[in-house]
Amino acid sequence: MRAVVTVVHLDATLWRDSDMDADLARSMLLSERVRVEGVLAAAGRLSARAAEAAERELSSAEQHPAELATETIERELDQSVVNHAATELVELDAAMKRLDGGTYGLCEGCGQPINEERLEAMPAARYCVEDQAKFSRNHRRPAGR
Ligand SMILES: [Zn+2]
Repeated sequence: MRAVVTVVHLDATLWRDSDMDADLARSMLLSERVRVEGVLAAAGRLSARAAEAAERELSSAEQHPAELATETIERELDQSVVNHAATELVELDAAMKRLDGGTYGLCEGCGQPINEERLEAMPAARYCVEDQAKFSRNHRRPAGR
């Protein structure tokens, strides 16, 4: 697995002019998955530490409001990172399914091939740039961004 991931980065510039290579796309999705899982693991460790620190604060007789506030902010940041990474994992899995089904790289809105540079930057992209813009306008995420 690790060897495959390394090869992807070396070859990433070679496929600009060629048709979408399913193996390469799969490698990119896997490599992205490894990265996102790393983010989730790191965020999990951070939030465990923040929770412990918060418990210590709460159990100590003397409160330190400033520190407490800092930790609350840290946990909130943490949560948005986790939410984002979790969403990304879902998207990566969906992209993997499209790859298996032979529809990877095709826009789910208009059915046209998605720009290769866009896929390179966002291997799990479902929509072409135009449809993504439409989608974002019509379906604002509750969390907002
Ligand atoms: Zn489209």
